Amino acid sequence: MGESRFDLAVVGGGILGLTHAVTAAEQGLRVLLLERHAYAQGASIRNFGMVWPIGQPFGGSYDLARSSRECWMQVASRAGFLAEPCGSLFVAHHADEWQVLGEYQQVALDQGLELELLPPDQVHQRSPAVNPDNLQGGLFSPWEVRVNPRQAIPAITRYLQTLPGVEVLHGACVIRAGDGSVETADGRRWSARHILVCGGDELSLLYPHVLQNAGLRQTKLHMLRTTPQPVEFRIGPHLASGLTLRHYDSFASCPSLDAVKQRIARDQPELDQYGIHVMASQTEAGELILGDSHEYGPEIEIFHKQRIDDLILRELRKVFRFPNWELQQRWVGYYAKFPGGIVYRQTPEPGVELITGVGGNGMTLCWGLAAETLASLTN
Ligand SMILES: Cc1cc2nc3c(=O)[nH]c(=O)nc-3n(C[C@H](O)[C@H](O)[C@H](O)COP(=O)(O)OP(=O)(O)OC[C@H]3O[C@@H](n4cnc5c(N)ncnc54)[C@H](O)[C@@H]3O)c2cc1C
Repeated sequence: MGESRFDLAVVGGGILGLTHAVTAAEQGLRVLLLERHAYAQGASIRNFGMVWPIGQPFGGSYDLARSSRECWMQVASRAGFLAEPCGSLFVAHHADEWQVLGEYQQVALDQGLELELLPPDQVHQRSPAVNPDNLQGGLFSPWEVRVNPRQAIPAITRYLQTLPGVEVLHGACVIRAGDGSVETADGRRWSARHILVCGGDELSLLYPHVLQNAGLRQTKLHMLRTTPQPVEFRIGPHLASGLTLRHYDSFASCPSLDAVKQRIARDQPELDQYGIHVMASQTEAGELILGDSHEYGPEIEIFHKQRIDDLILRELRKVFRFPNWELQQRWVGYYAKFPGGIVYRQTPEPGVELITGVGGNGMTLCWGLAAETLASLTN
């Protein structure tokens, strides 16, 4: 066994592993982070880069998302990547969606949060990308943030490596964790007082019996990326359509949401079949990141379905107008979602904690979750 004893060994170099490692190292702990690939290539690098408090329910994870948001803003300047407080704009092209936005604005107001309900002409002042045909209006929230995951994940990794007492190992696949040590596939071992396993959707390597019995729901998402838009064209805030209201728990308390869901189920069942709603974010280079779809558990097939991409593009074209629709990349991402809460935490044996199951909210909640973990460890 190597000589050094770490306070904390973190398995997984995605956003959950990184935020836990950075938070611990900034508190003075000696941290070892082990990532099995040459660089992290899981959900954390395949996402929209939306830090998205508006998707979190009030009285639930909304406050955690807001505290994570503040951390993103602070860490971005320390680690040298862009975190832009762009806000978000939900647009309504149907009367029932407009109803939901109005109801949600009131729910937010009851929580002391002022969101702007915008008539069509003001929607256009927020974003030139919204299709004016049949536009009922939009809802603007100022709290969402844009990060580019392909820059942020490497930048946070580099920043972590500069912190005292930290070691980061890539190409280090952990095959055993427990009894105060971690062991990689090539036979190396390190001792650590605490071990956090942040393995994302990897459920078959460490504690497979625990993870596989946890009810975690495997999910596959389709994503698209355009070539850069003309330099003068910025979408402004992150964009989401009325379809997206079906997807986030934050809108569940709006009485008109049922009407939206019933209309989609009746008129466009193919969108429910593939869990499609549409969103757009923009990189600093002007490319649009577009998505997405959701296939679950046994529905997941290995082969890419062109039909899903076609449906996503069809729905995007109904609600947004982009000067350039030329695609340069298509990819899929996977995450595990814990149906019983915002995150799955389990201690399979003393000194080891499994942390996963954050579903589509990992970029939004990561720093807040890491702060919670560290508070419980240091207590
Ligand atoms: C397409 C898509 C879009 C999304 N958009 C958003 C968004 O806009 N906003 C948002 O908040 N969330 C979004 N999410 C969700 C978010 O990306 C995830 O919740 C988050 O990235 C999960 O982070 P993680 O660290 O748990 O997992 P991962 O990023 O998958 O990282 C896990 C890492 O652990 C490593 N690993 C696993 N097992 C081992 C082992 N035994 N040894 C060593 N290393 C190991 C893996 O190689 C991997 O790098 C999106 C997800 C997807 C797929």
